[in-house]
Amino acid sequence: MLAFRMKIDVLTIFPEFFGAVFDFGIIRRAKLAGIVEINIYDLRSFTTDKHRKTDDTPFGGGDGMVLKCEPIFNAIEQIIGTCERENYPKKTRVVLLSPQGKPLKQAVAREFADEANHIVLICGRYEGIDERVNDALITDEISIGDYVLSGGEPAAIVVADAIVRLLPNALGSETSAVNDSFTGNLLDYPHYTQPRDFRGIEVPEILLSGNHAEIEKWRQAKALEKTRLNRKDLLNEI
Ligand code: SAM
Repeated sequence: MLAFRMKIDVLTIFPEFFGAVFDFGIIRRAKLAGIVEINIYDLRSFTTDKHRKTDDTPFGGGDGMVLKCEPIFNAIEQIIGTCERENYPKKTRVVLLSPQGKPLKQAVAREFADEANHIVLICGRYEGIDERVNDALITDEISIGDYVLSGGEPAAIVVADAIVRLLPNALGSETSAVNDSFTGNLLDYPHYTQPRDFRGIEVPEILLSGNHAEIEKWRQAKALEKTRLNRKDLLNEI
């Protein structure tokens, strides 16, 4: 049996949403190599009532529906073996995807990749989730950006992808992530491939020179230029 480096469990009311989304490229390879195991759980299967209800109207009135806490507590109890947060195994993290969460940054993904070996991703819907889930079960509340999605499923995909590619040996070449945007304080430099001349648009001459020191200098300058253009805020952190 494969000993997985990381297990990611996703809790959702729309398991079909995930389809084959984790069956491509780096994540697929990581799964096949035993680096990660990803399971999708239908929240409905953790309900105990006749109608298998996962949501209800909000106490205090107001619009919309709220995901009930009971199926989520049941799911965590089954998946982790306890819903006492202080008794979770040391490297287990229970993540609520939420626009109110801590912003997902490369450093956050890196921290999960380095520190965790079991991550449960809980996808909200409607107005959100009964706050008792947050109070009792959640170790990390994560937002993928300052906008509101209809559900946590796209956010779970983003979070899982950002983490899995940072797991040891997940990328084809160990150096592939080193120059990625946000690994330092710069965005990535521009990349080019064949053909050298496409409809009269040529690859920068320097990249054909074979002078690796000069190529490196050019890439750093381009990365800085791009960062100044699109993300001046990153340079303030230097
Ligand atoms: N009423 C909530 C609020 O204003 O904060 C928004 C609920 S949203 C329509 C439904 C679900 O989508 C949330 O519970 C969360 O799981 C997910 N979601 C929405 N935006 C998100 C974001 N930026 N990052 C992560 N998850 C998000």
